[in-house]
Amino acid sequence: MNKLANNIFSTSQENLQSDTTYFPSDINALRDFLINCNENSIKVYPISRGYNWGLGASEPVDKSCRVINLRKLNDIHELNLEEGFVSIGPGVTQGELSDLLIDTEYMIDVTGSSRDTSIIGNALERGITYKGLRVESVIGLEVMLPNGEIIHTGSTRFNEWKVKNHYQHGVGADLTSLFFQSNFGVVTKMTYRLTRKKKYQVYIKLNFHNEEKLFESMSSFNNLIKYDIIDSVYHIANSQRAVNAMLPEIYRNENVSKKNIQRLLKIALSSEWTSSGILTADDKTVLKYKIKKLRKSLSSYARVEVLTQTKLSFLQKLVKSFGLSSFYAFIKCIRSLMNLYNGQSTNIALGAVLTNDEYKESKNLSEQVEKSSRGFSYCLPLTKLNQESAEEMVKTIKAICQTYELDPSITLNPISYMVLEAVVSVEYDKSQFTKAHNCIRELQKTLNHQGHISYRTNINDMDLYLEKGPYMDVLRSIKDSFDPNAIISPGRYLPEKSS
Ligand SMILES: Cc1cc2nc3c(=O)[nH]c(=O)nc-3n(C[C@H](O)[C@H](O)[C@H](O)COP(=O)(O)OP(=O)(O)OC[C@H]3O[C@@H](n4cnc5c(N)ncnc54)[C@H](O)[C@@H]3O)c2cc1C
Repeated sequence: MNKLANNIFSTSQENLQSDTTYFPSDINALRDFLINCNENSIKVYPISRGYNWGLGASEPVDKSCRVINLRKLNDIHELNLEEGFVSIGPGVTQGELSDLLIDTEYMIDVTGSSRDTSIIGNALERGITYKGLRVESVIGLEVMLPNGEIIHTGSTRFNEWKVKNHYQHGVGADLTSLFFQSNFGVVTKMTYRLTRKKKYQVYIKLNFHNEEKLFESMSSFNNLIKYDIIDSVYHIANSQRAVNAMLPEIYRNENVSKKNIQRLLKIALSSEWTSSGILTADDKTVLKYKIKKLRKSLSSYARVEVLTQTKLSFLQKLVKSFGLSSFYAFIKCIRSLMNLYNGQSTNIALGAVLTNDEYKESKNLSEQVEKSSRGFSYCLPLTKLNQESAEEMVKTIKAICQTYELDPSITLNPISYMVLEAVVSVEYDKSQFTKAHNCIRELQKTLNHQGHISYRTNINDMDLYLEKGPYMDVLRSIKDSFDPNAIISPGRYLPEKSS
């Protein structure tokens, strides 16, 4: 125990910000700490940056855990722009990588969350980017087990293999996916495939005629994905959500008139549901073909607008020269949101979860989220990408939120063939914490029961996903072999070991 006491003492010397969170400075410090915790049955909760907002952020399920924040393990071990992959530590942020790739042929697929979030943390939660599912680009992982041993998954375990940075599967059984949404080890490195930027692209904006038409359009989205017309994630938001996402960023600009902005938003988001997305191609003719196909598929459900970068930057310059500052701020905001599809990470969405003043004044927006006077919680169900499922899911969400007198922000994201994600965010004043959490719990219970099951959940509702049975028994025995003392993230995506 002495060794541990020394270690924890040196840790707190190293990191004066917190006496409960440990920030290892390198892999050796992490190993020593983990071995000590394992030998002394001290529970730990590893996080990469800890910004898993709306789902628990950096808070463990089991409050007796010592949090290990891996933000200092932030080496970019290799960035290979010839072969299109990167090998990174857990502290590497999407903002950092996004900046490094800006003038290259490649991009990192980014989420709508802050620039400070971790690519590894998001991948381990099976996060969803503007291009699709993060896990699909993971080539291999380096994982530290509680006894300090390191294993490599996928092909990365064969150091000499020429395809180790490209071929995900290795030989024989592969362990990579065991470390997503689990608590079997601490991920210390990830090899990740970069996304090649296509040569041409246009932005698409859809204003749905009404909610019924939105639901009817689902099978058209499905076909557009099926035939590779759409190859990114369209965001279909209720206007509440769209306004929440844009207003704070626009108000941040000096000289904007709130009245003008509200008028502009009213025109731009004239229907209850709107959507934004892109079409891309390496060939102009192919792009034209895709635009034609999209118009044909969706124009009976929504007004389709096609915008090019050139058109937007011309407009932006024009309104600037006329001194139309509100219009200018509006276009600038749209361009930043659209650039998420080009792998350019932004903090704009944090405006939706902070007060306007906090968003305008804070020097460090990510640190402000947990301190904010506003709270929010997420429910993230997946359902079938068709009219019937989308309609039932949205109607259930609205009905339940109404009984709690909460107004949900809903985004519908067709993420792949046949699969629709809903991001339901309930925002509340912190005094309404219990009510909002009860609402999210009831949403999950009811939606799960209807078959719109959440693919990810918060730390308070784990019990909804841990039904006893042979599957959990197998997971439990895998856990025993990786982490026999059950010190890593107890209760997260696996029930606590019964004593
Ligand atoms: C406005 C807003 C927009 C958002 N948009 C998106 C979005 O578009 N897509 C999306 O997916 N999410 C989104 N989020 C949710 C969230 O912010 C992101 O998923 C974020 O990437 C998670 O935080 P993080 O990267 O710091 O990961 P962390 O919080 O560090 O990690 C997440 C979890 O993974 C586990 N873990 C992390 N690192 C390790 C490790 N090294 N070893 C073992 N286990 C580990 C832990 O259980 C941890 O709690 C959004 C949130 C907000 C507020």
